[in-house]
Amino acid sequence: MSAAEQTLHEYLELMKKMKAYEEALGVLYWDMRTGAPRKGLEQRSEAVGVLSSELFRLGTSERMGELLAALSEPSVFAGLSRIHQRSVEENKKEYERSVKIPPEMYQKYVVLTSQAEAVWEEAKGNNDFAMFRPYLEQVVDYTKQFVELWGYQENKYDTLLDSFEPGMTVGQLDKVFGELRDRLVPLVAAVAEKKPPNTSFLSRKVPKERQKALSEYILKEIGYDFQAGRLDATVHPFATGLNPGDVRVTTRYIEDDFKNSLFSTIHEGGHALYEQNISPELIGTNLCTGTSMGIHESQSRLWENMIGRSREFWERYYGDFQRMIPEFSDISLDEFYVAINEAKASLIRTEADELTYNLHIMIRYELEKLLINDQLKVADLPEAWNEKYKDYLGIVPPNDQLGVLQDVHWSGGGFGYFPSYALGNMYAAQMMHAMKQAIPSFDEHVRSGSFGPIREWLTEKIYKHGRVLTPSEVIRNTAGAELDPSFLTDYLQRKFSEIYKL
Ligand code: ZN
Repeated sequence: MSAAEQTLHEYLELMKKMKAYEEALGVLYWDMRTGAPRKGLEQRSEAVGVLSSELFRLGTSERMGELLAALSEPSVFAGLSRIHQRSVEENKKEYERSVKIPPEMYQKYVVLTSQAEAVWEEAKGNNDFAMFRPYLEQVVDYTKQFVELWGYQENKYDTLLDSFEPGMTVGQLDKVFGELRDRLVPLVAAVAEKKPPNTSFLSRKVPKERQKALSEYILKEIGYDFQAGRLDATVHPFATGLNPGDVRVTTRYIEDDFKNSLFSTIHEGGHALYEQNISPELIGTNLCTGTSMGIHESQSRLWENMIGRSREFWERYYGDFQRMIPEFSDISLDEFYVAINEAKASLIRTEADELTYNLHIMIRYELEKLLINDQLKVADLPEAWNEKYKDYLGIVPPNDQLGVLQDVHWSGGGFGYFPSYALGNMYAAQMMHAMKQAIPSFDEHVRSGSFGPIREWLTEKIYKHGRVLTPSEVIRNTAGAELDPSFLTDYLQRKFSEIYKL
């Protein structure tokens, strides 16, 4: 073995070890959110803290620094495979970011966020922001300290955005969101003037067992591999890719709101299809994951909304649905399709329709920018939240449970993450446009429930590459262009003009 080969070997072994810690942590987090006993949570948080700091220690060790430096030497780097080159590039970026955070500080932060998440769940249940407030204040404080340590160019928030969507800035996002707002606000207003569709039947009670059967059936249909995953219940649905052979999906069953579990399942199923179809050659490397949060969200939104809420999809599945859920036997396909696509201002982001969804994101983005730039205190957050809802959507939450406490993200320090959802919508619309051109019989495939060609195209263009391609390479690879919000606004204009007869 040459010296360079030896260095590479040691690097790959170290990465394999780190992936093992990551996988163990992934299982612990999944367990904590799918029914782990409450009394064990405090000790579990400690265990998560210990494992996380060990993982952090491996990734920021002197040896890792030496290996990355040696592999980045131009003569050595040029001899590496493309996968190994990208692995080194990504790890180097992470490394340079991580070594700026003192290990003791990071460990305290991990324990804090783990506790904060459990407290958030209870505070939300009790509608008690005061209970969550001291935890959130600490999480925000840590985040601001991290930004100072990482450094920033124009806006402190840029540094946070970059960790979820590499390369994205406040400048770009303000511009793209501005374009969306200009097209969406008049569209939302036009829809609001129309007579709302009848949606009363959507609250008919559907037993949880049958909702579960429906979720499992639809997941199988879209090509989710149950040999490489499982479906469980949780409070705030998520998907977790432990490795491509174990990608778990969760959903939430509400008896008088069956569509909540159904569309959460398809959403998380979209995330899971991405992770299940990553190329096996990336297993055990840091590239064996989605390339960014925005690209990940593009896949969940594409399956949930652009396929799962399309007329073609329900032309295929409404009969099966009525057989499984006989409560809907007197409802026509047309009534059902219009009802599941109702667009109106509402309080809860996860239940928002496709059209108003981006406004929920803009509110969180604006508030996060203020918090991180010291222009808003956590104590004033509930009031600021309510004001934004009034400004953007014309409605005010009656309490914090339906307002500022609704999302899990801030308890885990996920500042800079929310914009990913809106980016995902924009990416998805642009990818969908390209896919329909590449597969002229796209609508026929959906109408007959044959998702193979669609999954294969997405796998070829996006899934299999994992993190080998950067987000902008993925969008260029699929759509042959840079991110362009007009595909989303065109799509929404077309869809909602048809539904609401504008
Ligand atoms: Zn998602």
